[in-house]
Amino acid sequence: MEGFPLCGASFAKPSHSASFPAAGNLASNATMRSRSKRNTPSSRDQNTTTRSRVREQRQSKKTRSQRSRTGATLPCNETFPIDTVMERLRAAAPTWNAPVVTLMAKQNRSPFHVLLGCLLSLRTKDETTAQAVERLFALGETPETLARVPLKTLEKAIYPVGFYRTKARRIREICRLLLERHGGQVPSQLEALLELPGVGRKTANLVVAKGFGLPAICVDTHVHRITNRWGYLCTRTPVETEFALRKCLPEEYWIEINDLLVAFGQTICKPISPRCSACPVHEFCARRGVHRSR
Ligand code: SF4
Repeated sequence: MEGFPLCGASFAKPSHSASFPAAGNLASNATMRSRSKRNTPSSRDQNTTTRSRVREQRQSKKTRSQRSRTGATLPCNETFPIDTVMERLRAAAPTWNAPVVTLMAKQNRSPFHVLLGCLLSLRTKDETTAQAVERLFALGETPETLARVPLKTLEKAIYPVGFYRTKARRIREICRLLLERHGGQVPSQLEALLELPGVGRKTANLVVAKGFGLPAICVDTHVHRITNRWGYLCTRTPVETEFALRKCLPEEYWIEINDLLVAFGQTICKPISPRCSACPVHEFCARRGVHRSR
């Protein structure tokens, strides 16, 4: 991740200093344990207390790492004016290029189209994806029809998208699983989508949000980078960003934030040298991790 942010003091980051002993303290605890065989009753009491304290500290560490994985305690800046920022971005968005998968969803495509469109778009340029999607769905519009298409024909239809051979195999496998497990329909539950081959959280969330119009937050590299640059979040990975946004972002923005920030990230807040002088939310942005801009 380019120029990744150093989180500011405004974040309510949990302090670990109170729950974790310094290395020196642990060493002295070990020394105390080695002496315990020849201890007096009072020092045994002291050792029991020390052991229970170490147990508590280990439990605290375990609980903290469990929280970190689920994102339940990830920090976000609650003073960030997200309503104003979203409003400004909405107003400016018509002048930007919309991402291809959103375009497909806006054209009343089915969840199946959104699912395969997103699968094809991974590591592929938007224009290439759009053409490959057209050729693919000319072969069949449903899991039943596409499942009958020979693998070589699928490969030829989606070429030159990135990893086209792997993606062709996945398309066949996804069609087969949809027929076997879901009666030929795309499921609307995140968990069921994540069980399909090649479907990660980004794709699954996009299908839920764009295919079904249900609340879900699709976090890609743009959403992750920009929310951290703003100083709204302080997260290390897109998955952490998703869970932090689930906690902080008002639900009314869940579906549209991906559209807005992908287009914004492709045109204004680019990964390298963002166009800050043309940015509609410049005054609210902490520009964390931005070392060069235009
Ligand atoms: S001010 Fe610069 S870094 Fe911040 S959102 Fe705008 S373009 Fe991105």
